[in-house]
Amino acid sequence: MLLLCNYYVTYRCNAYCVFCHFADHDQFKGTPYASLADFKSNVKQLVKLGVKFIDLTGGEPLLHKEIHLMAEFAKGLKMQTSITTNALLYSRFAEKLAGKIDLLHFSLDSPDEEEHNRIRKVDCYNSVFESIKIAKSLGEYPDIIFTVTNNTYKKLPQMHAIVQKYDLVLLVNPVFSYFGNPGLNQKAVDYVDEYCNGKMNIYLNKGFMKLRRDGGNDIKNPSCKAVSRVVVISPYNEIILPCYHFENETIPIDKSIKEIRNSEKYKYYQKMEGRFDFCQGCTVNCYFEPSFAFPTNLYAVASLTSKFKYGYNKLIKQKMQKKFSKQEVN
Ligand code: SF4
Ligand code: SF4
Repeated sequence: MLLLCNYYVTYRCNAYCVFCHFADHDQFKGTPYASLADFKSNVKQLVKLGVKFIDLTGGEPLLHKEIHLMAEFAKGLKMQTSITTNALLYSRFAEKLAGKIDLLHFSLDSPDEEEHNRIRKVDCYNSVFESIKIAKSLGEYPDIIFTVTNNTYKKLPQMHAIVQKYDLVLLVNPVFSYFGNPGLNQKAVDYVDEYCNGKMNIYLNKGFMKLRRDGGNDIKNPSCKAVSRVVVISPYNEIILPCYHFENETIPIDKSIKEIRNSEKYKYYQKMEGRFDFCQGCTVNCYFEPSFAFPTNLYAVASLTSKFKYGYNKLIKQKMQKKFSKQEVN
């Protein structure tokens, strides 16, 4: 069952994060921005195919000048929308995006300004805090996403203090291994798991942690549903198979997405999801989040408990904020 579309609106970025391959700007120089017309046509089809969530991703998605129109279009079709941004450009788009993004995430990699800017190799720490203020003033309820690495996991208590101060939720995103980057080591996994346990305003997908403890995806008994639950679209208007991070093949969208999904090639990738040699040990969060959407295995059960906590927490906070802003208006 299809659930999610990861729509790469651009591969370009304005930061140089040490853990991300999009930091290599030369590699993506001159790559296109997704066309709005293609986006609309694809999204209309995806909704008919049952896709409920769309992640407008990149690169840095706010480099796309029509990102607000994309979000508006998807929202108009009753999709749940999400954007993760380094916040450098948020102030420019904030008003246009208000009310169109269900899950707005600002990336913060450290509680320390110097460390965050060193990791991102650009001065963007203060933009995160300015963006939180702007977003809240517009009635938005952003989250802070903390990509935890082997160098930063011990900063969790300070990151927790920041979200408590701003009354937000901290999304803990354990770094995963791809394109030669190392994933989270066992010591860090244990620390993160223990620290996050039982804390209401921290979201950590427990399924991710269990998967890491078990050595990642097992090609003999795969838990990955990257092809059956996710459609990945590139700025070139192609479907990427089986997943962005271990792209094996792209199919240009020159016919309907339904036809493409019914093709032999697509079916092959669906049959092989999580079974390729390169799938052994995989922990790419972007695909395991939707893979764990239904309680079909122990990872999914662990994941759903965390998701329920996140959803509940967020709903309560949003309600409180609306009530509070109404009182302020009155
Ligand atoms: S801002 Fe995001 S896309 Fe850009 S380099 Fe950093 S992690 Fe990668
Ligand atoms: S296991 Fe990992 S590499 Fe293999 S298809 Fe799934 S997400 Fe891609």
